[in-house]
Amino acid sequence: MPRYDFRCRECGDTFELSRPMAESDAPADCPQGHDDTVRLLSTVAVGGRAAAPAPSGGGGCCGGGCCG
Ligand SMILES: [Zn+2]
Repeated sequence: MPRYDFRCRECGDTFELSRPMAESDAPADCPQGHDDTVRLLSTVAVGGRAAAPAPSGGGGCCGGGCCG
């Protein structure tokens, strides 16, 4: 289940909730009971950067004896 970060505008606290994605925009109460909260654009399961470009080569011309 994805986790979402929220921030309370009443007390400035930030907290985290696990909830279904379908309820990601549902209101959330802060731990202190305030309901004036906003959902932060958090990093939801960012599992690393894009893969590095694969090295070119493999099946190059010189492997096939066409360079000489
Ligand atoms: Zn609060």
